[in-house]
Amino acid sequence: MPDALPGWAPLALTIVNPSADHRTVDDPLSASRAPLEPDAVGHRYDVLVVGGGPAGSSCAYWLAEAGWDVALCEKKVFPREKTCGDGLTPRAVRQIADMGIEGSLSGAHRYDGLRANAYGKSLELSWPDHPTFPSYGYVITRHDLDGIVNDRAAKAGATIWQGTEAVAPLLEEDATPRGAGGGLRACRGALVREKATGETRQIAARYVVVADGSNSRFGRALGTTRDRNQPMGMALRTYYRSPGHDRPFIESFLDLRDGSGQVVPGYGWIFPLGDGRVNAGVGLLSTDRRWKGVNTATLMERFVAWAPREWELTPQNCLGPATGGKLPMGLAIGPKVGPTTLVVGDAAGTINPFNGEGIAYGYESGRLAAASLGEALSGDGPEALSSYERRLDEAWGLYYRVARAFIRMISNPELMALCVGSGMYSESLMGWLLKIMANLLRPDETGPAEAAYRALALVARMTPEGP
Ligand SMILES: Cc1cc2nc3c(=O)[nH]c(=O)nc-3n(C[C@H](O)[C@H](O)[C@H](O)COP(=O)(O)OP(=O)(O)OC[C@H]3O[C@@H](n4cnc5c(N)ncnc54)[C@H](O)[C@@H]3O)c2cc1C
Repeated sequence: MPDALPGWAPLALTIVNPSADHRTVDDPLSASRAPLEPDAVGHRYDVLVVGGGPAGSSCAYWLAEAGWDVALCEKKVFPREKTCGDGLTPRAVRQIADMGIEGSLSGAHRYDGLRANAYGKSLELSWPDHPTFPSYGYVITRHDLDGIVNDRAAKAGATIWQGTEAVAPLLEEDATPRGAGGGLRACRGALVREKATGETRQIAARYVVVADGSNSRFGRALGTTRDRNQPMGMALRTYYRSPGHDRPFIESFLDLRDGSGQVVPGYGWIFPLGDGRVNAGVGLLSTDRRWKGVNTATLMERFVAWAPREWELTPQNCLGPATGGKLPMGLAIGPKVGPTTLVVGDAAGTINPFNGEGIAYGYESGRLAAASLGEALSGDGPEALSSYERRLDEAWGLYYRVARAFIRMISNPELMALCVGSGMYSESLMGWLLKIMANLLRPDETGPAEAAYRALALVARMTPEGP
């Protein structure tokens, strides 16, 4: 029996609610900007979501759309800056379309594929035709994107508090961690602080979703930890004015080098924003002790100085200092299910290790969590939450295992150079790799990319994953 191809489960989900009363808030802003009202004290929400990035807003949207009483607290006020490459792949576009807001991206830069550059060669790789995903992506700043999705959740009926930080979980009296390996502590809401006034109050909920991103202080307070044997990414980006701002391909540079000229496991990117700017950055995988010492700021300086002149990434065109962040990947953070809690997005390490993409996986994990919460709230009780783990595993378990095996391979500099070097001689080989790495394999095809993935999956299954 061949291994199933990855990634279908999140696309056909409905969130159950037998007594659904589909509420619609006419003015989303009145809901999203609502101050902390005194009469909310004593109210118990079905679900409280902590964090309003892609994972939290998607989870709140799908729950609210199904008629559940969901609240979301976000410590910042939208629109807000968020360090990111700003690249949406067809997978992310599909989730945005499913939430009914692709039209809101009409002003964003739509692009056709990836231009891969290495060893002096360039290959233009269009996004593949696919029955489920569009064959285009967008580049849009998170400053603009995240507020659109959050507003969508508000419009669907979620109660949203912006500028409101969850400062501590409300723990049940017996909140000793439960489950194998320590487990998560039972949590029934959060103590929140409104930034503008400093006022604190409690928000009670039957279930809590942790969506507070890669630093995830709230998740750690409940007992999440990262498996340090798994790879972790570090990335840095900034914006430049550039004549290449409206090119139809995003660009990646695969032969990123450290100070000694060694090719490192990672890539540099230039993503055109279509508004006079490009987003330029570098990402590095800390797969191996050798790469832990590499300074990403130096890597970024070297990349920008070396980038093709036509982009004009000069100090005069630079629009601000580079900012960076961590990329927890491969589902390396757990537990993801507690007695009353689910962990989604970067807080659960959902980034795709193949390419560092996390927005689509944030949306999808939020949606998967909403499906399990719908079952729990519909009468199946807290035991139904464990279906979230199963859903994640069905969606990406094997795929991420293959990705981790791939990363182990490319953290060997000679193998990395061999892979990239030989790939750049074959457009079809790089096309398959793009399909695999962006998780865009076709279930209805037995083409070379699908066959290559199955072969890799077989190897990954047989290879033990150790430190
Ligand atoms: C430099 C860089 C470049 C990247 N480029 C790309 C890219 O091009 N494409 C891509 O798909 N992915 C990219 N990623 C990854 C992507 O940014 C993340 O995977 C994605 O943002 C994860 O979404 P999230 O909702 O889990 O977390 P976040 O987007 O981090 O959202 C978490 C939210 O929670 C809020 N929050 C935190 N703590 C609290 C609290 N206690 N109370 C209330 N609110 C709280 C935060 O303010 C934030 O809004 C990049 C990452 C980095 C660092």
